[in-house]
Amino acid sequence: KKALETNCYRFYRSEMNMHARAMVKMSAALRNAIDENRLVLHYQPQVNIDSGQIIGAEALIRIKDSKQGLISPADFIPIAEETGLIIPMGEWVLKEACRQAKQWQTIQNGFVVAVNLSPVQLHQPDLPHAVTRALQQSQLAPECLELEFTESAIMNNVEDILRIMRGFKATGLQLSIDDFGTGYSSLSYLKHFPVDKLKIDQSFVQNMLEGDNDAAIVRAIVSLGQALSMTTIAEGVETEEQLIYLRGLACTEMQGYLFSRPLPADEFTKLLSKTQSV
Ligand code: C2E
Ligand code: CA
Ligand code: CA
Ligand code: CA
Repeated sequence: KKALETNCYRFYRSEMNMHARAMVKMSAALRNAIDENRLVLHYQPQVNIDSGQIIGAEALIRIKDSKQGLISPADFIPIAEETGLIIPMGEWVLKEACRQAKQWQTIQNGFVVAVNLSPVQLHQPDLPHAVTRALQQSQLAPECLELEFTESAIMNNVEDILRIMRGFKATGLQLSIDDFGTGYSSLSYLKHFPVDKLKIDQSFVQNMLEGDNDAAIVRAIVSLGQALSMTTIAEGVETEEQLIYLRGLACTEMQGYLFSRPLPADEFTKLLSKTQSV
């Protein structure tokens, strides 16, 4: 028994070392990407579901890598959060997204950019200042910046999030709840949050026409949004059938591959110019 325990302990230690070494390596790689300006934002249009007009875009981060091409956020956000590098990274995202939105407002009035916030950023007391700095540097109106809070981050930390959200609302920002429906938020709490928009998680949208349950959830979220005077946006809309179904509900906006994948800024500019001149 003793030998077994010792082996387990050794195994555990070597796992820890591997993890620690991998972390050091990956955080160095992330740090390099930041220092070498290899962070890049792609933008996915958010569209009025009835008119098809682009209202704004969600900014989605990637890393440019000479060998791997573009690295997707799923592969580095967790490490960035664990190492704290999400803080400088998140500040860059805010700054760059606001700068870009301001530029796109020369093509389309009132263009809104949505930026994802990590739960780690929400614990950072400097976050409101970082947001204010991004707005000031870009001269973007606060109404044209939307901040996305995930439902799970909100429910982990209700009191603090309420305080942070109230501050942001006082500044004039728009707030949304991302991945809505996945995070067990209590409806009695929801009405207290000064939120403008519910983003219906793409898992429900994608399964909505397969069985009854997901359709019922989507309908319930749309009604909830109506009852609370919140906009609802369906994420991950991939087919015409899904779009038609959503139009039949009172769902307000859509985002998904059906309309467009997330695009590099120059391609997004072309798309925006084209749809504006029609
Ligand atoms: P998210 O915020 O839920 O973003 C939506 C994800 O769904 C994006 O993946 C988008 O490309 C993808 N998507 C959009 N439409 C469709 C569709 O029709 N079908 C399918 N299958 N997928 C669709 P992406 O860009 O890989 O981002 C993944 C996640 O990484 C995001 O999920 C978000 O949680 C995180 N993330 C991205 N950028 C940032 C950032 O700047 N800061 C932070 N903290 N997290 C970010
Ligand atoms: Ca999001
Ligand atoms: Ca989402
Ligand atoms: Ca409708």
